[in-house]
Amino acid sequence: MHAIGVDIGGTKIAVGVVDEGGAIVAKTKRKTKPQDPASIDQAIADAVAELSVDHEFHAVGVAAAGFVSSDQENVLFAPNIAWRDYPLAWKVRELIGRDDIAVVVENDANAAGWAEFAFGAAADVKHMVMLTIGTGLGAALVIDGKMVRGGFGFAAELGHLRVVPGGHPCGCGLRGCWEQYASGSALTREARRAAVEREVRAAKLLELAGGNAADIAGPHVTEAAVGGDELGIELLSELGRWIGEGAASMAAAIDPELFVIGGGVVEAGDLLLEPAREAYVENLPARGHRPIVPITAARMGNDAGIVGAADLARIASAGR
Ligand SMILES: [Zn+2]
Repeated sequence: MHAIGVDIGGTKIAVGVVDEGGAIVAKTKRKTKPQDPASIDQAIADAVAELSVDHEFHAVGVAAAGFVSSDQENVLFAPNIAWRDYPLAWKVRELIGRDDIAVVVENDANAAGWAEFAFGAAADVKHMVMLTIGTGLGAALVIDGKMVRGGFGFAAELGHLRVVPGGHPCGCGLRGCWEQYASGSALTREARRAAVEREVRAAKLLELAGGNAADIAGPHVTEAAVGGDELGIELLSELGRWIGEGAASMAAAIDPELFVIGGGVVEAGDLLLEPAREAYVENLPARGHRPIVPITAARMGNDAGIVGAADLARIASAGR
């Protein structure tokens, strides 16, 4: 049976009909306003109505960038969209207005992680950690074939593990969280700083950004590094090391068979992943007495959120 996956971004939503093998058979999108949750509800319902003309389905999974309640009904808090204890599943269900369609909400990093686990880079393992390097550091944990959501829906927020006491301030209210060092924002911050402090070495980065240090973004660093720029390579290597060190600590907690790394920056390939692997091995507890598991790039690309949300909704609706 097909299911629908909805991926809510900052200014648009992408919606797809997904088959049981994880393939998207139809797709549509809508523009939304992040400060207007009602516009998002309506956009989802409109897209679902459009896709229901030619497709049959009984489950809709909505991937949201926020803390999702463990019953998969409400978004308790979202940093970039105006959701505060918001009954997203209920709102969408009301607008769709069909008793035969189940609606569940899923954290976006969980949805992407599930897509990799079910159909992508982690399809052959039962225990995995996925880290999505975006603006922040998203994470998903699958243990013994099951998505870990925790007692209240707050599990797998690995980006907020403290790695540097008294370090950079974080949006969660603490300091020194892992995502302040292993994220696209961290990469951009360090690149801009380097461009101001070491202008000559940063010539390539500045050129790509149109001459202004404040305009340097993650893709500029990747492009510079892939082209052989020394500073770009160093910045990606530093990011990779933060990923690998944190992954080693996660191994102590989870003992996964595989780490999957997603997000735009993995386009840099081994320029990012090789330093991550090295730092992982150097910091692994009981090193030498346990397997060194792979740290590998995600395979599902931009569609991971849609595919994972749809598949999780299908599973949830089957169990109800
Ligand atoms: Zn934090």
